Amino acid sequence: MERVDFLVVGAGLAGAALATHLAASGREVLVLERGRFPRHKLCGEFLSPESQALLRNLGCEPDIRDLEPARITATRFSVASGRELEFPLPGEGLGLSRYALDALLYARAVAAGARVEVGVEVTDVAPGPDGDLVVQAGGRAVRAGWVVAAHGRRARLDRALSRPFMARAHPFMGLKRHHRPRSGPEGARLAEALAGHVEIHAFAGGYCGMSFVETGEVNVCMLLQGGLPSVGEGAPWARVVAHLSAANPRLAERLGALEPSEPRPWAVAQVPFTPKEVHRGGVLFLGDAAGMIAPLAGDGQAMALAGAEALAALLRAAPGRPGPAGRDRVAEAWDRAWRRRFALRLKVGAALQARLLEPAAADRTLRWVGAVPGLAGLLVRATREG
Ligand SMILES: Cc1cc2nc3c(=O)[nH]c(=O)nc-3n(C[C@H](O)[C@H](O)[C@H](O)COP(=O)(O)OP(=O)(O)OC[C@H]3O[C@@H](n4cnc5c(N)ncnc54)[C@H](O)[C@@H]3O)c2cc1C
Repeated sequence: MERVDFLVVGAGLAGAALATHLAASGREVLVLERGRFPRHKLCGEFLSPESQALLRNLGCEPDIRDLEPARITATRFSVASGRELEFPLPGEGLGLSRYALDALLYARAVAAGARVEVGVEVTDVAPGPDGDLVVQAGGRAVRAGWVVAAHGRRARLDRALSRPFMARAHPFMGLKRHHRPRSGPEGARLAEALAGHVEIHAFAGGYCGMSFVETGEVNVCMLLQGGLPSVGEGAPWARVVAHLSAANPRLAERLGALEPSEPRPWAVAQVPFTPKEVHRGGVLFLGDAAGMIAPLAGDGQAMALAGAEALAALLRAAPGRPGPAGRDRVAEAWDRAWRRRFALRLKVGAALQARLLEPAAADRTLRWVGAVPGLAGLLVRATREG
């Protein structure tokens, strides 16, 4: 049976970043990725200032600069009552599509020396001979000293690993579609208002973010709580737009000035925000597989990259054949490190998201945040690092 020291499941942001850090320090890494690059991915595509520092540490900064991402320096909220609030961001964010970013990180992991196999789905991980773990993937078995599962928010693998969050129903769905401003004065007004901004438009049971990305398109990405009338997975886009337009006046104006530039929207159901365990059966979880922050924080990508850096620091010096006891020691250290670093921002993000989903609370929150100088910046920083 083939054997490696480190096996990483998933070459998204977290998996590719971890593989890059480990391979760059001379460790033997195999990454198995279900999809192929480049590929679109449901995400608001807002890169916080924190993510940029983490991408710099991966050596990606020149390539990112070459892509000419949109520069974002302010945010604008609107709620169903029509109230709005605009404030500058504590640092400059970027609008960069996952189509471009994930392909870039995949290439970086390969260049650093990681072996990345695409089109291979990991279906199970179980204890194997000589203290190793055995990974089932694409009809073959691979032995590994370490298995890091960076497979995103929810996958069949979670069921195979009997993760408790899979037993619950998760009421949130995500929808995303790239757009272009319509030609004519409406589109021109929108382009001017949105330049340099990330906007979040809230309504009963959901919110919709939008900002420019590197292609000059506007990414429209939303989170919808289950039970929204007439909006289910596979609903025609016109019906989604009609629902949102009736729910928030500023959002109606924005959507009226945009037209889809992608043939279809990207949708995911059952987005899990409930707590997850950070390791199980010797498998270490990373990125969304370890825990998801509310998208309004715009920090999930940073958490994936920061988590990868922190886990690489724990694993870099670890033996390639740790055995169950060695894995347990690192798993406990990883659990402590993860909670110290991310638990608070997950709670703040969840509390803010809960307020935004309820129109009266959303209106009050915007009023308070607008009335107390410095509160907006404080809340943004509470969901970020640094
Ligand atoms: C609606 C919404 C909007 C968001 N907006 C933002 C935003 O604006 N800014 C921000 O920073 N964050 C945002 N996020 C969060 C962000 O998208 C995630 O936090 C980030 O993608 C996590 O990266 P990851 O590497 O953990 O997972 P992913 O990016 O999901 O990567 C996981 C990879 O694993 C692969 N995979 C899955 N299962 C298997 C398997 N069994 N075997 C092999 N490979 C597998 C997948 O194909 C994928 O490539 C948003 C999330 C949602 C839901």
